[in-house]
Amino acid sequence: MFRPMVLEFKPQGIYCPAGDFFIDPWSPVDRALITHGHADHAREGHNRYLATDIAAPVMRHRLGDITLDTMPYGEVREIGGARVSFHPAGHIPGSAQIRVEVGGEVWVVSGDYKTTPDRLSTPFEPVRCHSFITECTFGLPVFTWPSEEETAAEINAWWAANAATGTYSLLGAYSLGKAQRLLSLLDPAIAPILTHGAVEATNAILRGQGLHLPDTTHVTPELDPKTHPGALILAPPGVLAGNWARRFRPASTGFASGWMRLRGVRRRRSVDRGFVMSDHADWAGLNEAIKSTGAENIYPTHGYTDIFARWLSDQGYNAQPVPTEFTGEMLEEDGA
Ligand SMILES: [Zn+2]
Ligand SMILES: [Zn+2]
Repeated sequence: MFRPMVLEFKPQGIYCPAGDFFIDPWSPVDRALITHGHADHAREGHNRYLATDIAAPVMRHRLGDITLDTMPYGEVREIGGARVSFHPAGHIPGSAQIRVEVGGEVWVVSGDYKTTPDRLSTPFEPVRCHSFITECTFGLPVFTWPSEEETAAEINAWWAANAATGTYSLLGAYSLGKAQRLLSLLDPAIAPILTHGAVEATNAILRGQGLHLPDTTHVTPELDPKTHPGALILAPPGVLAGNWARRFRPASTGFASGWMRLRGVRRRRSVDRGFVMSDHADWAGLNEAIKSTGAENIYPTHGYTDIFARWLSDQGYNAQPVPTEFTGEMLEEDGA
């Protein structure tokens, strides 16, 4: 039986010849379908963008005046000879898997995904396909996530204990996605919640889309920390060790990431507390997601591609690793 190559791997990224478009391309192209607004997926310089309606406001904020068309989850559109639709990936609000069908052959590009629900993102939905291009950021058995409730209880207990001794809690989190997910889990009864400008900008966008987040106070130069005793401060991880954070003394620092599962990474991060929480699927989630697609061809990308492809081959899949541009930086960009 003839099976058309629905998607190809080109130097610019994943390409669909039948529809003449790319998915999350790395370098400028004419037409780009974007799984979600993180910087390693939604890049500058494309002529035309297509994404979900929920992902659009953040993309406009990050990329400025772009030509951006949107589609709701589940709607089907013909692009050239391809039928295209977006399906929830459960990674951050608006994140999508992209389904492409050509001549009855179905491929799905997962983008980044998380199989367990949170309070903000549309929950992940498996999509049946013949070929599945899957991220595998945490594609090793060591990566198992505690439940969101467990992690939330741990973070709130850490914060409450700090507040009780007049200590600030500095919590590092990527400004799009992870920060808002943490916010949705914090107990505002403990003390005030303060935010770095990068986090607050994304908060404002998501609140404007109707997502509920607890009240936060933006840390401006005029803000007097003394008027916010015991506060938890949410900021991008990069600013925790710098001048910006120095006004909050004494402080305990924390970082929430899937990488906190690894002791060596916890040490290198030199934070007081590491919380295991990721916006990506863990080992069990990846395996479960792949199984539920019913796909026979699996293309692992974005992570431990070689090891994961070998594992999948042993499980009887037709698995082929796909090189990604930024594998060396993966450790720094959980949540991205
Ligand atoms: Zn990513
Ligand atoms: Zn992402």
